[in-house]
Amino acid sequence: MRTAIIGGGIAGLAAAYELEQARRAGKQIVYTLFESRDRLGGSLSSEVVDGAVLERGPDSFLTEKPAAAELCRELGIGAELTPSNDADRKTYIVIRNRLVPLPDGLMFLIPTKLIPTALTRLFSLPTKIRMGLELLHPPRPTGQDESVAALVERHFGREVVDRLADPLLSGIFGGDSAQLSARTVLPRLVEMESEYGSLTRGMLAAHRKMRARMKDAAKRTARPANKNGSVTAARAIFTTMRGGMNQLVDALAVRLDPASVHLSTPVSGIEKVPDGWRVVASGKSEVFDSVILASPAWAAGELLGRIDPQLAEELRAIPYSSSITINLIYDESQLGRLPDGFGFLVPVVEGRSMLACTFVHRKFLGRTPPGKAVLRAFLGGMKNESLMAAPDAELLSTVRRELSEILGEKILPQSAEPLHSQVSRWPRAMAQYAVGHQERMARIHARVAALPGLQLAGNAYDGIGISDCIRLGRKAARELIAAHP
Ligand SMILES: Cc1cc2nc3c(=O)[nH]c(=O)nc-3n(C[C@H](O)[C@H](O)[C@H](O)COP(=O)(O)OP(=O)(O)OC[C@H]3O[C@@H](n4cnc5c(N)ncnc54)[C@H](O)[C@@H]3O)c2cc1C
Repeated sequence: MRTAIIGGGIAGLAAAYELEQARRAGKQIVYTLFESRDRLGGSLSSEVVDGAVLERGPDSFLTEKPAAAELCRELGIGAELTPSNDADRKTYIVIRNRLVPLPDGLMFLIPTKLIPTALTRLFSLPTKIRMGLELLHPPRPTGQDESVAALVERHFGREVVDRLADPLLSGIFGGDSAQLSARTVLPRLVEMESEYGSLTRGMLAAHRKMRARMKDAAKRTARPANKNGSVTAARAIFTTMRGGMNQLVDALAVRLDPASVHLSTPVSGIEKVPDGWRVVASGKSEVFDSVILASPAWAAGELLGRIDPQLAEELRAIPYSSSITINLIYDESQLGRLPDGFGFLVPVVEGRSMLACTFVHRKFLGRTPPGKAVLRAFLGGMKNESLMAAPDAELLSTVRRELSEILGEKILPQSAEPLHSQVSRWPRAMAQYAVGHQERMARIHARVAALPGLQLAGNAYDGIGISDCIRLGRKAARELIAAHP
């Protein structure tokens, strides 16, 4: 089987790795990976500056999604997996320039603990009363998809959208809760609503079940459960690579046949021909039995335009957001004491350019030299695309001013010159699962099924995170292998 992989981000790399493994196991497989940039990894890009790991793109993956950690272990870099420092996990929301901690007991945006919710400064009294009344919300038969903002507003009111749902989702997806599909992004909440009516009741029931399961597990393994019923050794929420996310990219790259990887080679066209798929790149064309399109969906749509205009249109219609990350290294002596925790999120209603800031040296220990602090700001998102065109110097001065205003001059004086600063732009890199995404995916699957030898992989389809992209890349390759026994 001869396969072309278009796109050398983590999805395309995972697909290539799967094909390479099958080839080494004796399958008749030849593959070529085409990547338009001069490096592999797509959005994954890290470097070490003065001993500090700086992530330009993603800084970690969710521990509960196993595909990334499994792949690292297979690649022999399992020892490099590094958990987030959850003992210090605390996240703030900026409300009128003050840092307000997220209340304890939040699960999937839903408050599950009475006292922290009653005492938090995040919500006004009318919102807190509404949250109490939400327990009486009647069940809703599963109906049409709706936006996350609509779902949350129906249950808890606008303030919870503005101060909680929107900042959390723009911090994760660079997205806009008014556009994101509740059924795709928060499927558990949609199920809970149809079963319980109240999302709080649904979440409390899920919490009880989880505690019962953990108690059972503790009994079976004779590990003591603490007085809340939970087992003490909880897993960290995030996992990263000790030396940066590029360790994963590098470990994948060395497993591939170097002659099969073509960098700086954008694919400019593909064509369905009687004996397979003709792929055109850098003025040359070659025929393959199959193609894995692991580029962003908008780029896949461009390439499929002449083969299946309807499929191309569906792919082009998947929205993408752009984002900017800014890493700043400081000497700790330049700063006052930063608030405890991992960092803060900035609601769009605060009217700032920054969407979030991570205290990198706190979130992951051992990746920043002692005495240094790394702050990573995240900008852009669906509501702020225009920032992409701003010059680096302007972005840097905006971020330094906003950090100083939010944290206070005493903690971060605007005059404090970072030892190093780094601006990274990610144009149209993050797919947005908009309302109706599942229906769109059903139409896409049906059309792809009618084009044997074609597979799609990447963050536009069934999961935005690194683990999802790895899972989808490997699955695309396995399906092609299975179809060519
Ligand atoms: C700033 C940022 C922060 C993030 N943070 C996290 C995080 O902390 N945790 C997490 O799990 N996820 C995070 N994500 C999301 C995650 O990183 C991405 O969803 C994932 O890496 C996408 O991988 P991909 O392979 O689908 O696409 P990409 O990484 O976009 O790769 C696609 C590749 O295709 C190439 N390409 C495009 N067109 C062509 C063509 N015609 N010919 C050849 N090559 C082509 C591109 O150059 C690119 O390299 C973040 C994303 C960004 C941008």
